[in-house]
Amino acid sequence: MDACTAIVGINWGDEGKGRMVDLLTENFDIVVRYQGGGNAGHTIVNQYGEFMLHLLPSGVFRKNVVNVLGNGVALDPEHLLEEIQILQAKGVEVTPDNVKISNRASLLLPWHRKMDALEESRLKEKQFGSTKKGIAPFYSDKYQKKTVLAGELFYPEVLHHHLNDLREWKNLVLTGVYDEKPVTEEEIDAWLDKYCKPLMPYIQDTSEFLMEELHCHKQILFEGQLGALRDLDFGIYPYTTSSNVLASYAPIGSGMPGVEIDRIIGVVKSYSSCVGTGPFVCEMFGAEADRLRQIGGEFGHRTHRVGPIDLVATRYGVQIQAATEIALTKLDVLSKMDEIPLCVRYRLDGVETDKMPFPSVLDKCEPVIEKMPGWQSDISGIRTWWDLPKEAQDYVKRIEDAIGVVIKWISVGPERHSIIRRG
Ligand code: GDP
Repeated sequence: MDACTAIVGINWGDEGKGRMVDLLTENFDIVVRYQGGGNAGHTIVNQYGEFMLHLLPSGVFRKNVVNVLGNGVALDPEHLLEEIQILQAKGVEVTPDNVKISNRASLLLPWHRKMDALEESRLKEKQFGSTKKGIAPFYSDKYQKKTVLAGELFYPEVLHHHLNDLREWKNLVLTGVYDEKPVTEEEIDAWLDKYCKPLMPYIQDTSEFLMEELHCHKQILFEGQLGALRDLDFGIYPYTTSSNVLASYAPIGSGMPGVEIDRIIGVVKSYSSCVGTGPFVCEMFGAEADRLRQIGGEFGHRTHRVGPIDLVATRYGVQIQAATEIALTKLDVLSKMDEIPLCVRYRLDGVETDKMPFPSVLDKCEPVIEKMPGWQSDISGIRTWWDLPKEAQDYVKRIEDAIGVVIKWISVGPERHSIIRRG
């Protein structure tokens, strides 16, 4: 078996990566989160119940799996502590033995969330649809070298001065630009006591840990957040997230620079969904969209926009993720449709293309739709490829032909074992 595998999203996020990690972790020793923060979540249904994981790696439910939050993560202590406590209350073991936080992960500070909300409200109708979890202000501060590392918690004097300097600087913006109250030293001290100190036992040099484990031939799984089209550098900028979600970034964000990833499992959803604003060429509207949203359970804090599978965007996502194999999720959601639409190309200025256009012209693109016959039967109990209706097989093969990478798994329900392994 290969030592390093990544599971990453190919579309706009919410593809069902969490369920794939939860399923496949039985074969891995370590699961690592390498980017992002509490702004997106994986939903996992297993014997403990249904969980939304935002920060904790999805291997946390498996005994004997060590879960690492790498240096690339936006480490929000308040959010992480709450998540740990929710899991512990439901009987899931979360200890410094099975959850480790990189001492080089930067801390999302109390003002980051505030800055996020203030900027979104300043933008009014031009809002980006931020989750207001402070992720964009966090990453911009990180790259300005204006946040603190988790490991600094072990050096209280250095930390005290560092945080005071940052607080003074941030208060200039809060009071001067946004006319807000300044953050006080007492507020920061209370935040340190309440949320950061309890996390200290989990913090260590995870790079060293991971490299040692790799040399001991342990199997490592990198778990990506969001999807390729939200990648900061290669996504639909500026409607991207503020970090690199691509598998190529996993070794860096995990603290293992230069380590090669052997397998990249790209997760593709059988239809499209997109949360937040920005171009979404294949978007469907009206009753058809409402029906798909309903069956697909596409609800959350923010509206889930839906559409048919977008083969242009999916092929691009597969390419930039450099996926070596695909997991196609939520095929069961399409079961009741007479005909299944697919967005096969875009039309831009009257010319059809199957190449992903530059982000600035996406709003001008129209989807070219083809339809395939549906199967109109419940496939959620099916566990082998050969038992799938022919129409469902044809649909899967049509996607596979378009993206040029083998579809190895097909999920037909949210539960861990509602899966068809192919080949
Ligand atoms: P992630 O962020 O990529 O992990 O995706 P989410 O967790 O946001 O979204 C996936 C949603 O689809 C969750 O509610 C899952 O329980 C659900 N889900 C995953 N796979 C399937 C499937 O094959 N069929 C159905 N019906 N639901 C699924």
